Amino acid sequence: MQVKIIGAGLAGCEAALWLADRGVQVELYEQKPAKYSPAHKSAGFAELICSNSLKAERPDSASGLLKIEMKMMGSHLLDAAETARVAAGGALAVDRDVFSTAVTEMVENHPNITVRREEVTALDESAPVLVASGPLTEGALAQAVAALTGDHRLSFYDAVAPIVTAESLDYDKVFAASRYGRGEADYLNCPFNKEEYEAFHAALIAAERAPLHDFDGDLTVYEGCMPIEVMAARGADTIRFGPLRPVGLRDPRTGHRPWAAVQLRAENTARTLYNLVGFQTNLKWGEQKRVFSMIPGLEHAEFVRYGVMHRNTFLESPKVLTKQQFLKEHPNVFFAGQITGFEGYMESAASGLLAAHQMLARLKGRELPPPPAATMCGALLDYITTPNKDFQPMGANMGILPRTEEINIIRDKRERYMALSQAAQDAMQAWVKEYEA
Ligand code: FAD
Repeated sequence: MQVKIIGAGLAGCEAALWLADRGVQVELYEQKPAKYSPAHKSAGFAELICSNSLKAERPDSASGLLKIEMKMMGSHLLDAAETARVAAGGALAVDRDVFSTAVTEMVENHPNITVRREEVTALDESAPVLVASGPLTEGALAQAVAALTGDHRLSFYDAVAPIVTAESLDYDKVFAASRYGRGEADYLNCPFNKEEYEAFHAALIAAERAPLHDFDGDLTVYEGCMPIEVMAARGADTIRFGPLRPVGLRDPRTGHRPWAAVQLRAENTARTLYNLVGFQTNLKWGEQKRVFSMIPGLEHAEFVRYGVMHRNTFLESPKVLTKQQFLKEHPNVFFAGQITGFEGYMESAASGLLAAHQMLARLKGRELPPPPAATMCGALLDYITTPNKDFQPMGANMGILPRTEEINIIRDKRERYMALSQAAQDAMQAWVKEYEA
């Protein structure tokens, strides 16, 4: 049993490891280090290109539920994340280098995986192949995908946030705390008073943005990665109710809640680097330095990475993809990850696991039903394959899970979400059991 996988990202590595564990010979193609997308910077696998957060872990949260389902399906990336964890108050955040190294070692040391460090430029349909080349797929491979799917509308834009050094922060202003005292004061908070906030907001919306190259369609921005300056331009208080919301924080200098606050999250286990939470941006680098230095505590901040904006490519999955994640017209060509419309790091990895299940079934001459719609994975698969003329990628969220009357009558939101989560876990457990049998 043999398959090819294109892309050693989140989806490709999950799929490769899962299949290899079950005796499948995997040829895993990765274009790095010969070629990098504008957002990928390291030669390692499963590179996290923006935030280092893998989101919430609580079982009554959508992201927490997704992780539970992934564990049931046999995720390796969650094991790697565990070894790379950094404190993040109820969320799973990782040191991106430790995480990537752990995944790379698992993949490279697996006897059933052959890594080929080369760019794939064509799709060979003679045997099952998994395209997991991510949201920055471009060039010959993008053209090959477009030729198979008839989809020539592949360009969208997302943005990433800057990173500063811990030692360059002003600790007379910045204070450590998690909202509502949850966790171990995992975030550093930069508190604004009203005047400081207003001056910052005015500078942010007037700052010069970088031109967008190699783009020939309408600018479409993924809401979850919206540039801070675009969000700020929506209204004087939009960011104060968004990433800069001060709720649950108390400034030890004043004893009061600040007017607004920027949160900084540790980038690495050593906590020497911090990213500006929610500060994905497309401002010119000089402008980032000027405007973000107006944030209290960041007056002398050293920026080790500036924010940038990049393309986001995905299939028109409702038209072209089956729930088994292969192309309706080209059954040997499977897809996984963000390119299918599963939005987010963990969603992409989950999509790799799902595709791997289907590929193994195919190799054994079977076809699996997808996990039930009551599971987060099943609901996401439903979402990306349901006709939708304005199709956009979707991340895990409780809103896409189907509700029974029994669940609807639960008034407390936490309890309702817990009930949804429990139903999903039961359904996934049954699906996994049936498949393993
Ligand atoms: P990737 O992780 O990108 O992996 C694809 C791999 O394929 C790469 O290693 C690439 O080098 C390789 N490859 C590509 N083409 C070829 C080829 N022709 N031949 C061989 N190899 C190839 N999600 C979040 O949850 N949080 C975020 O903060 C976040 N920020 C994002 C920021 C940006 C700019 C973008 C574009 C997306 C972001 N996402 C974020 C969404 C998404 O979850 C990630 O992009 C995620 O990495 C997708 O996983 P993947 O496995 O599909 O692709």
